[in-house]
Amino acid sequence: MRNHLIRTYQNYINGEWRPSASGARLTVTCPGDGQPVADVPKSVPEDMDRAVAAARHAFETADWAFNPRLRSKAMLVWAAKLRDNLEDLATVLCLETGKPMGEARFEVNGAINQLEYYAAAARTLYGAANAVDKNTLSVLAREPVGVVGGIIPWNYPVTLFMRDMAPALAAGNSIVVKPAAITSASALALLQEAEKTNLFPAGILNCVTGSGSVVGETLIAHPDVDMISFTGSTGVGRHIMEVAAATMKKLSLELGGKSPNVIFADADLDKALPYALKAIFTNAGQLCTVGSRLVVEESVAEEMVARLKAGAEALRVGHGLDPETTMGPVSSEGQLRDVMGYIEEGKAHATLVTGGYRITEGELAQGCFIAPTIFLNPPADSRIVQEEIFGPVLVVQTFRTEEEAIAIANNTKYGLASAVWTRNIDRAMRVARRIRAGSCWINCYNRLLPECETGGYKQSGIDRAGGIEGIMKYTEVKHILVDFA
Ligand code: NAP
Ligand code: MG
Repeated sequence: MRNHLIRTYQNYINGEWRPSASGARLTVTCPGDGQPVADVPKSVPEDMDRAVAAARHAFETADWAFNPRLRSKAMLVWAAKLRDNLEDLATVLCLETGKPMGEARFEVNGAINQLEYYAAAARTLYGAANAVDKNTLSVLAREPVGVVGGIIPWNYPVTLFMRDMAPALAAGNSIVVKPAAITSASALALLQEAEKTNLFPAGILNCVTGSGSVVGETLIAHPDVDMISFTGSTGVGRHIMEVAAATMKKLSLELGGKSPNVIFADADLDKALPYALKAIFTNAGQLCTVGSRLVVEESVAEEMVARLKAGAEALRVGHGLDPETTMGPVSSEGQLRDVMGYIEEGKAHATLVTGGYRITEGELAQGCFIAPTIFLNPPADSRIVQEEIFGPVLVVQTFRTEEEAIAIANNTKYGLASAVWTRNIDRAMRVARRIRAGSCWINCYNRLLPECETGGYKQSGIDRAGGIEGIMKYTEVKHILVDFA
């Protein structure tokens, strides 16, 4: 049995580390072994009210909203502190999510990259000007929205914290973050590094841990919060829209997906194969943009399925700290139950190619491990095809024509990501344009870069994260008209 060093954290409010007013605590456990790894406040609405008041006051009075150079510098120094402490941050992340250390390091590096990208963008937040007539100039200036509430999921708690909060800060807002309860430690660890910069005015950065149904609710209903940036499930996103309507908050919603990875017979299959495996089994399938539906041309389906099966069976499922591990556990017992429910249903309707069981051998019995699973040709209307499983489960669907491939790709309520593999450039472009999704990768998958936008069509969300679109959403447009007649 592993014993982890248990770290103790407090909420970060107005530049101070504070316990919850209730005194209650939450234990964060490692899904790889069930052992405790951190202890954080189990906050109450009063804590959230304090954080929002601090953020409001800082937004209105601190040297921040009108000082892009300071924002840029603070963010760059924060990035440097994160880099100095990368191994420790990756360890916290590995333990609380269960992901392999290699993936945890990659994630922390990704977050640093986001921070540096938006630190630069802070200084070039261009508006526009229109010379309306001889004596009239119309100017559009980008201004911060105000207090932004950030609600972060547990699957990529460090990268998604930064993808959503770095542009909010760069644009001049103050933030109040509510991390997912089961991965709160990494968020607070990030803020410990921010504090070391001595460059963020008190109250610009705030973080309150606890449950979504308690402090999350306080945040989304709060009259002093101007915008909610939410990444998580479509169901909670819908609820946030309803609650936020009462105070007319600006919203950014990055939700679920069931993304098609479309492979034509003329593709470079040797390149497509490792991408297809990574597209679904990275982070044990717990990534919003996973390629959870492999849509493959019938003439190469048998070959591809055989190669995918071999690839899936070669994965080393294990504890995140074990250097041999290439796939970790799912995030919690609750998540494991949900995923196993889908798998059992799948067995009743489709051909099980590989996997399909919880791993209970040796030490792995203490964690939430699921064997990499592949189903072939499930009915198009079955739940394993239509719903986001958020676990290591791939469904393979086959097609004969380009039209059929597009129809299958578009046949869910989601529209987050997609990919098309072919050596025919005309076909690649035709298909990419007709898939109703926020991203389409051509001859690659999951190239999620700070410079590039992602986001959802249909029920996968509202607005974009990443790139320039990902910062503009954190601004209001101020129109200023100058009359010099
Ligand atoms: P979730 O249940 O929607 O939770 C996400 C966050 O919302 C957590 O911090 C959660 O807090 C909080 N929350 C829950 N109920 C709330 C409420 N009533 N009011 C305010 N906040 C509330 O999602 P999840 O299960 O953590 O994450 C998986 C989902 O995220 C998947 O659907 C995935 O596709 C999606 N996702 C999307 C993207 C994207 O970019 N589109 C990226 C990553 C993940 P608690 O932890 O306390 O419940
Ligand atoms: Mg949840």
